[in-house]
Amino acid sequence: MTGQRTLTLILSCEHATNHLPDQYRPLLAGCIDQLNTHKGYDPGALEFARLLAATLSSPLFAGSVSRLLVDLNRSLTNHRSPPIQPRDDLSSALKKEILARYYFPFRRQVEEAIEDNLQKEKTVLHLSIHSFTPVLDGAFRTADIGFLYDPNRGREKDFCGKWRAALAAGDAGWRLRRNYPYQGTSDGFVTALRKKFPPQHYLGIELEINQIYPLNRKADWLRLQHQLLESFVEALS
Ligand SMILES: [Zn+2]
Repeated sequence: MTGQRTLTLILSCEHATNHLPDQYRPLLAGCIDQLNTHKGYDPGALEFARLLAATLSSPLFAGSVSRLLVDLNRSLTNHRSPPIQPRDDLSSALKKEILARYYFPFRRQVEEAIEDNLQKEKTVLHLSIHSFTPVLDGAFRTADIGFLYDPNRGREKDFCGKWRAALAAGDAGWRLRRNYPYQGTSDGFVTALRKKFPPQHYLGIELEINQIYPLNRKADWLRLQHQLLESFVEALS
């Protein structure tokens, strides 16, 4: 009886930080100035993930290094946009070291947490929290919040629909979009995990927040976080 299972929340934040360990600085010498931009991390994402984790007493798995070093939200099979960008001075030994140190442990931890819960007959709602730059290549993004899911997985679609409706009901001013600024089925950690876990017991949802709030509109940012949290709790009930 799938309907009887309790829903458990697992949080992840792949692009939490722009930390770059000293020994890898030479490797990124050409792009050190990007560390403080959206290319280095997702501003605001960790702050909101921590708020959710603390309020709902849920486990949070956060990346510990910049996505410029290794992108935890990319699959090894993604050749166009791999976890580690190919560089002339990156040996295969060094690449292996970085993957072994940061990439595999992070992905494994989250996967094990999901497996544990599924074994306990629970359904897992995995929320992967991200933020996006308001302007990309000169084009303004037309959303404040994006809910990313696989439209073919009914439970993900339903949950995002409820969350979106609850957020809109509390404040009609936010620009809310589905599968924007990316498709929920594009490469990402939850997309990879959907291939391992069944749709009735694993909901992989990526939340995308416009960085304009954490970066430039502090008062609205606090209000947005509060309303996102309240509407999320409402959608859970
Ligand atoms: Zn991200």
